[in-house]
Amino acid sequence: MPELPEVEVVRRGLARWVSGRTVDTVEVRHPRAIRRHTAGAADFADRLTGLRIGPARRRGKYLWLPVTGGGPAAQSAAEGIAPVVTPDVTHGLAVLAHLGMSGQLLVQPHDAPDEKHLRIRIRFADTDGTELRFVDQRTFGGLSLHDTVPGDPDLLPDVIAHIARDPLDPAFDDAAFHDALRRRRTTIKRALLDQTLISGVGNIYADEALWRSRLHYDRPTATLTRPRTAELLGHVRDVMTAALAVGGTSFDSLYVNVNGESGYFERSLDAYGREDEPCRRCGTPIRRRPWMNRSSYFCPRCQRPPRSG
Ligand SMILES: [Zn+2]
Repeated sequence: MPELPEVEVVRRGLARWVSGRTVDTVEVRHPRAIRRHTAGAADFADRLTGLRIGPARRRGKYLWLPVTGGGPAAQSAAEGIAPVVTPDVTHGLAVLAHLGMSGQLLVQPHDAPDEKHLRIRIRFADTDGTELRFVDQRTFGGLSLHDTVPGDPDLLPDVIAHIARDPLDPAFDDAAFHDALRRRRTTIKRALLDQTLISGVGNIYADEALWRSRLHYDRPTATLTRPRTAELLGHVRDVMTAALAVGGTSFDSLYVNVNGESGYFERSLDAYGREDEPCRRCGTPIRRRPWMNRSSYFCPRCQRPPRSG
């Protein structure tokens, strides 16, 4: 399952290779990949054709492309210049990309052989010679077209209006997040994975940030002080930024890719996946506990469980 850093790599690739181009043809090769577009494949293709792709955007693990009427930016893309796309999109439509477990967005030359699991092909009205392909082996992912939230500066698709900003978003409100933690009767790891509170923090990054913060995953959020929340958010951001730095090295190639693996970050993990290995801080073996159909990895000495009762 791709996490925020992987999705951000894809977003950068789309911004570099696809934003500013005008859709010429849309070919839906598998109905499952378009099932979230309830009006169907023909409607998806008809409405998208002739529209210009705006700046690629992301919130947490959600990725979308606002679309508007065609314009001169398509020409700069055709000339191989990275198009400067101004946020002039008022059309109120966006293509939401669901990567699912195995979804990939690839920018390929027209004459590259079709991938075995090619689901959707989008060609552009320019002479760049490349096309956008949605490839998905397990077809949990797909593309869909949605109205954007009226007046939203990020042109957020309405179906993800409930998704909170992610901690790398400059507009993320640290104070409001702390207040929400204090109000809720929940535990800290549940809160970190609650996409309506903070988006984009997956299981791996939650365990890593909690280890760095010396917080047990079952700590009630109501017990967190403001400085403790600030420290935790700092660690969440550090972990994600480090992963992004490692995963963000290949986006400048002509291959926009999410493969569902996050192994590139494995060597620098301190808690996740390290059961029975010594804590890098105190030497105590890291423990793994079942947690909401997943696992939580923690140091029993550095991250003391909360007192019960
Ligand atoms: Zn420890």
